[in-house]
Amino acid sequence: MSTFPIRTYGDPVLRQVTTNVENIDDSIIHLVEDMIETMHEAPGVGLAASQVGVQKRLFVYDIGDGPSVVLNGKITESSGEWTYEEGCLSVPGLYWPIVRPNHVLLEGIDLDGNEIQIEGSELLGRVLQHETDHLDGILLIERLDPDQYKEAMKILRSQTLNPDQELAKRRLLGKG
Ligand code: ZN
Repeated sequence: MSTFPIRTYGDPVLRQVTTNVENIDDSIIHLVEDMIETMHEAPGVGLAASQVGVQKRLFVYDIGDGPSVVLNGKITESSGEWTYEEGCLSVPGLYWPIVRPNHVLLEGIDLDGNEIQIEGSELLGRVLQHETDHLDGILLIERLDPDQYKEAMKILRSQTLNPDQELAKRRLLGKG
């Protein structure tokens, strides 16, 4: 097993809509194993495939009861309202109180291809919604209210380039 670098805000892969997993082969099993290791190491409570640069509709999560995986998941019911100080491994170090539905029902399939339904409230409900958003190319900043969004954009724009981008820029400059 190995870990992936986690893609961060500004990486276009985070804006792409993922496609369903059609074939649960060895590459998917390995991907899931490595994603679970990446999530635990981060550490985070959830990780979507797009966050490691893979355009497949799957995510892993672990809110303390051991790791789980959902393929081709969709939220089919939601109700209530809950405010939670939400963060994202792809927007590191920033948290905002975000209002979303409290209870959700998620339908998808497991690694054996069986149809599954997961009901979640509070933290589990939040993780299911946050990861499903990732698979649709949506980041948590789009769930902020207009004032929060303005503040968030100010912070994100003022953040310096990450080391990889710096390096890429220097290489580009070096080539003239
Ligand atoms: Zn996230």
